[in-house]
Amino acid sequence: MSELTKARLSLNTATVNQWSLKECIEGCARHGVPALDPWRDKLHELGVDTAAKMISNNGLEVSALCRGGMFTAPDEKGRQVALDDNRGAVDEAVAIGANCLVLVVGGIPDGSKDIGNARNQVRDGIGKLLDHARACKMPLAIEPLHPMFTADRACVNTLAQANDLCDELGDGVGVAVDAYHVWWDPNLATEIARAKGRILGFHVCDWLVPTTDLLLDRGMMGDGVIDLPAMRQMVEDAGYLGLIEVEIFSAENWWKRDGDEVLSTVVERFENVV
Ligand code: ZN
Repeated sequence: MSELTKARLSLNTATVNQWSLKECIEGCARHGVPALDPWRDKLHELGVDTAAKMISNNGLEVSALCRGGMFTAPDEKGRQVALDDNRGAVDEAVAIGANCLVLVVGGIPDGSKDIGNARNQVRDGIGKLLDHARACKMPLAIEPLHPMFTADRACVNTLAQANDLCDELGDGVGVAVDAYHVWWDPNLATEIARAKGRILGFHVCDWLVPTTDLLLDRGMMGDGVIDLPAMRQMVEDAGYLGLIEVEIFSAENWWKRDGDEVLSTVVERFENVV
């Protein structure tokens, strides 16, 4: 197992939700964190051009842009709106020099109970977006989400599903392996190995016991039950030696603390328990 230093750390800006993107960029520079992954709402708040300049002036790398996706909709018009928005997300990812665009693919459309149809909509949506993404040379990273989010956020729930989509869709699409979403999967090792050559990102945090909120109660690395070094080993064995994002949604704990305290803790845990 190789030693991990903050040279491979990327701050997903959701981790310090209490900070603006400007504060995140300055915080990364202050703490020697070499990369970040901004969310689009914060990017829009600061302005894409201003953000691109600030990121480059501070010498930061952009591991990804969070996020595109949400391809599913009750009708064709809704799906077209989603596709247009995703093309805009690709353009923004290019503008800030992101390594890829993360896709949270969307859940079951309002009024539907047809999960198979939702999954077909996702495949078709990514397929349509790929033309533009390939032309812009912006890789798309499908992020499977934990099954508890199937209805409202993402009906791609395992790495096996994501790998199948990559096989079907071809060049320009890969996977983001988020420990929080896939740690429980009995086929994890097999599917990470199968993703060799198409892993575009690795996200870490921890699974708390008990978890008190489905969305906003993720733990700091080391505070939960995920064997992060074992998962890092799988990802590295599959050839991924790129940036590792820390992505912690924590409304009642880490989001209430001072941002610098959060970032210091992130760096310390990253180097010691991941
Ligand atoms: Zn993630």
